[in-house]
Amino acid sequence: MKIINIIRELEKKAPLAFQESYDNAGLLTGSPEMLCSGILCTLDATIEVLKEAMEKGCNLVVAHHPIVFKGLTKITGKNYVEKAIIYAIKHDIAIYAIHTNLDNVLNGVNFSIAQRLGLINTTILSPKNNQLAKLITYAPIGTAEDITQALFNAGAGHISEYSECSFTVNGMGSYMGSAQSNPTIGKPGVKQFTSETKIEVILPTYLQSQVIEALKNKHPYEEVAYYVIPLLNEYVTVGSGLLGEFSAPIDEMELLTLLKDHFNLSVIKHTPLLNQKITKIAVCGGAGSFLIQAALRAGAQYFISSDIKYHEFFDAENRMVIADIGHWESEQYTTELLFSYLTTKFPNFAVLKTAINTNPVRYFLG
Ligand SMILES: [Zn+2]
Repeated sequence: MKIINIIRELEKKAPLAFQESYDNAGLLTGSPEMLCSGILCTLDATIEVLKEAMEKGCNLVVAHHPIVFKGLTKITGKNYVEKAIIYAIKHDIAIYAIHTNLDNVLNGVNFSIAQRLGLINTTILSPKNNQLAKLITYAPIGTAEDITQALFNAGAGHISEYSECSFTVNGMGSYMGSAQSNPTIGKPGVKQFTSETKIEVILPTYLQSQVIEALKNKHPYEEVAYYVIPLLNEYVTVGSGLLGEFSAPIDEMELLTLLKDHFNLSVIKHTPLLNQKITKIAVCGGAGSFLIQAALRAGAQYFISSDIKYHEFFDAENRMVIADIGHWESEQYTTELLFSYLTTKFPNFAVLKTAINTNPVRYFLG
């Protein structure tokens, strides 16, 4: 099996188009055409993890964090990033990063946090905009069903929990082909009226080219009339953070204990407790302070994240408890998420989890 086969499956779960603009997800070293000898899943592709991959016979490291985040202008091994890259290239190890694109999908990083806490009714806290379009096309009556199915198969027609969504209406189309045309119905140079079905489907813009290709392959006309219109709708299943609920209200102290136990925490930094029972909470694995306002707007009573700065804790304003559980700690189950996904997709292939704790932070508790 080639590395590209594994990448395709990873990008079905978390398309690269869903990563944030500042991110650098994707294949960082190695070639997609390399034959894969084994996969090692990790949060960080540090040199220790790359050495572990070598020892365990894995030439693909699937990491959450891209070890190369900014452009490298020199690769001389003067820091840990350059050292890791040099090691990976020397030993033919492919590094694939699945970062904010995995944060931004419903069953991604935040879902693995929500699962540990037993949250229900999970929804994206801050859905993405400018990711959806509407395709309108016209087909001779009798061909619309097959065409619509081809559009669905190419990824169009999904709205939240519903698939194969479309709208059709019958009407009259007109056209006149030039002398060089070869119309399926009618003759060149003669104005033609044909009973047609107008088809409308929604699609994520990252799938536009494959949906249009499917349309052109299925449509009987020489020249297919279609319009792709950008939508202002939020993409409710793609975006940052997750909102969820406990099935029964939980005491604030009980929640702190739950976090401590489920995430093996030695310390939790949090704002003053508000003496209330908690039902609705927001979570964001990794640095999540950019979502504090969204969590407040959504009515979250608790926001669990990491890398919150001193002044950002003030933003809770006694309306919500902000709990910083640590960056590595909040994302530690992402390795398991990648491992179980890849094991399901490639049950007879060597998929492993790192045995190394890559957390660079230690706590001195006195
Ligand atoms: Zn992170």
